[in-house]
Amino acid sequence: MAVLYRKYRPKSFEDIVGQEHIVTTLRNAIKMGEVAHAYLFSGPRGTGKTTMARVLTKTLNCQDSKEKDGVCLSCSVCAGIDNGSFIDLIEIDAASNRGIDDVRALKESVQFAPNQGIFKVYLIDEAHMLTKEASNALLKMLEEPPVHVIFVLATTEPHKLLPTIISRTQRFDFRFLTLEEILGRLKNLTNKEKRKIDDGVLNLVAGASGGSLRDAESILGKIFSLNNIEESEIRKLLGATDLASISNFIDFIIENNKEAVLKYINDMVSGGEDLEQFINSSIDYVRKLLFLKLSPSSEVLISGNLTKEELKKAKIQTTGLTEKKIYGIIKQLLEAVNNIKYSPMPQLPLELAVIEIIGE
Ligand SMILES: [Zn+2]
Repeated sequence: MAVLYRKYRPKSFEDIVGQEHIVTTLRNAIKMGEVAHAYLFSGPRGTGKTTMARVLTKTLNCQDSKEKDGVCLSCSVCAGIDNGSFIDLIEIDAASNRGIDDVRALKESVQFAPNQGIFKVYLIDEAHMLTKEASNALLKMLEEPPVHVIFVLATTEPHKLLPTIISRTQRFDFRFLTLEEILGRLKNLTNKEKRKIDDGVLNLVAGASGGSLRDAESILGKIFSLNNIEESEIRKLLGATDLASISNFIDFIIENNKEAVLKYINDMVSGGEDLEQFINSSIDYVRKLLFLKLSPSSEVLISGNLTKEELKKAKIQTTGLTEKKIYGIIKQLLEAVNNIKYSPMPQLPLELAVIEIIGE
């Protein structure tokens, strides 16, 4: 089976998931004929920087751009970009072509007019990997770019670029995708592939992706090849802790129910749950509660990893906890996870932690 990420790579601005702020600005710039000669696409891996550069190239060069969203998807340019044969899109991996000679060769090539299209687009991936000498040579080109050339510098580490390079570009910051955005995309792909996968499983995949759409699609591809796609199996495979289980655990703490929480811990142990992982995931969750408590506006920050329902539940929980109490829980859980390796029984540090948290 073809890799999902490649098979369903967005073909137009319309197909791109998330990054609306960038799509809108680029679309408008193209419409107004105000395209910049150098762009900086900065942001974490797997958030669509290269895809955006390809769609931009296509929209600028399509031979029948009167079509919807500026691309016809059938002319030789559109087809060429999709199958990698369009020669006016030059992709350079700066991680392996980082020296001055590489940039000199680039400088030669930049002089020539486009072969097939209107604009030649140079996509320099991992641009921060260029040597200092090469960066300076690139800067010279950015200072006087030929009219038919557009540079797109993509990077995960913009702070490593020369400030003078950054100031020559129009910068776009790509963000991690939210859980809901990733979920929507995964559902879409599952339908296109005519597969049946439970929402719970897709939720797990989205959660495990950490906001990277590429990672989410790659995990989904692996799941498609499995025989057993039950939620419990996938949870084990991904090493994921059930958020509902963490949330229950916190409920018992809010209710000061020592007896229930100790029983809960021991049930987890007999059920074979990895306690270290459970504590780590709980710390992550309580940290989110702390953020929500400190500032309701941090919801945006949190919503990337929680579904709407989960977020609603988390908000209710924060009302039952003081800031000090949340801080205390994190502190105790951190201590428990540090002690687990040295404990004669894996559950003991967690038991002591909750007794300490709930108090007399
Ligand atoms: Zn076209």
